[in-house]
Amino acid sequence: MTGSITLTMIKPYAVQNGYTGPILAKINEAGFRIIAMKYLQMTLQQAKDFYKVHEGQNFYPRLVEFMSSGPVVAAILEKKNAVQDYRKLIGATDPLKAEEGTLRKLFGASIEKNAVHGSDSDENANVEADFFFSKLERFQLMD
Ligand code: ATP
Ligand code: MG
Repeated sequence: MTGSITLTMIKPYAVQNGYTGPILAKINEAGFRIIAMKYLQMTLQQAKDFYKVHEGQNFYPRLVEFMSSGPVVAAILEKKNAVQDYRKLIGATDPLKAEEGTLRKLFGASIEKNAVHGSDSDENANVEADFFFSKLERFQLMD
């Protein structure tokens, strides 16, 4: 059965600290399928475009600076209820408030360096997936 999708990024801080492997393992263990993945560094302009909804917020300049400061791992994850279930797996935005066992609790250092991104709705998941991946870069895995 095919589920819905969500878009994740492993953020620069987590990549730099060697958490890519452990985070991907947790994602697989939680039942998500990786249907697309790439390792890249966003330009400042790309980060501004990706986070456009937050334009005007006081944290926006730091957020886009940080997200373009080093490579990220971007991936499309598939599962039933992907968006909701992935938000549950990653935990609260602030790692200090995130539940035990969540990716942000385990691998996050601060509200900015919170290890991973996860889409907040099905609509945004599709927009964000299209931001990084063409159709040819997506792979539907068999059971
Ligand atoms: P993400 O979109 O990265 O999955 P989120 O949906 O939990 O995180 P958003 O409200 O969308 O949180 O904020 C986007 C990102 O902006 C957060 O992940 C965080 O790194 C940063 N951010 C949000 N609020 C603050 C804040 N008050 N101070 C500093 N950074 C913040
Ligand atoms: Mg968000």
